[in-house]
Amino acid sequence: MRILITGGAGFLGSHLCKRLLDEGNDVICLDNFFTGSKDNIIYLMDNHHFELIRHDIVEPILLEVDRIYNLACPASPVHYQYNPVKTVKTSVMGSINMLGIAKRVKARILQASTSEVYGDPNVHPQQEDYWGNVNTIGIRSCYDEGKRVAETLMMDYHRQNNVDIRIVRIFNTYGPKMAENDGRVVSNFMLQALKNQDITVFGDGMQTRSFCYVSDLIDGMIRMMENEQEFIGPVNLGNPVENTILEFAEKIVSITGSKSKIVHKPLPKDDPKQRRPDITLAINQLGWQPTVDLDSGLRLTADYFAERCSRS
Ligand code: NAD
Ligand code: UDP
Repeated sequence: MRILITGGAGFLGSHLCKRLLDEGNDVICLDNFFTGSKDNIIYLMDNHHFELIRHDIVEPILLEVDRIYNLACPASPVHYQYNPVKTVKTSVMGSINMLGIAKRVKARILQASTSEVYGDPNVHPQQEDYWGNVNTIGIRSCYDEGKRVAETLMMDYHRQNNVDIRIVRIFNTYGPKMAENDGRVVSNFMLQALKNQDITVFGDGMQTRSFCYVSDLIDGMIRMMENEQEFIGPVNLGNPVENTILEFAEKIVSITGSKSKIVHKPLPKDDPKQRRPDITLAINQLGWQPTVDLDSGLRLTADYFAERCSRS
């Protein structure tokens, strides 16, 4: 198949490029390099089945493909809040452009949605039929509401134009190829620990997250894209093991053998207090659940960041 991956030079996108090439597909990686990096995909450039296009999905583009993974969008709060208007445009205009391709060439399209559609959830763990608790006017809204509209667009193109869609709601994912300046908790804590710098826990650290290793997540995305049971989602993809951020910081200190101290910084506004996926639907519909436990995944991630640190 010929497969378009928007955001293909980013953290998740670059893993997806590699996996889909390994499975014998032709892969077109499209990226504007806002948070993605050529370093993530440069080693694929010699592969004749791989193409790279520098393009912004906010602008239309004509391509003939069989599958579209729409991942283009900054995912770290630091980056999506840098230019919030652009973040909304990427989710809304970008999704319209990608759905336009899907409609024209009858490609199947998968939208990378997010646990952020649940906002600061009042229901725990989060199931797909929970509509969420999202602030429409806060500093996270550009991302959360953009992603919610992207889901709406997917459903409306499906109902109105019969576009073949899949929606996955991704929960916090980590692993090699996360950018060092990403600003999310895993890369921040890893680099701080490896450099024996203070670990910056925001707030009291009692807020929770559930962390999924990247290979598990990529496996779930591909299963969802290729399921032929007309199961369009949305489906949660994530690891249901939940930790407080303080526990998480302590774990990273221990795994890296760091001398870092934990310090507390102000909690950013609208930071969700708890997050854990209910993955019953993914288990039942896709036969999918994570296989990499947190300690093993963090060790692999620490090796990656240690190698990056030794080079810089
Ligand atoms: P990332 O920032 O590493 O990757 C995003 C990629 O999209 C980057 O390569 C960036 O340059 C590109 N991009 C951004 N705006 C673009 C535009 N307008 N046109 C073309 N390319 C653009 O983030 P990631 O962690 O790889 O996330 C990938 C997708 O998965 C995102 O849509 C994100 O919302 C979603 N997601 C990720 C997580 C996670 O924990 N990693 C959780 C929930 C959802
Ligand atoms: N966080 C932290 N220190 C950091 C970065 C993040 O304590 O240096 C916290 C943040 O406040 C949030 C959690 O870690 O509660 C996850 O943050 P991240 O930005 O990775 O993603 P989110 O799940 O909030 O989108």
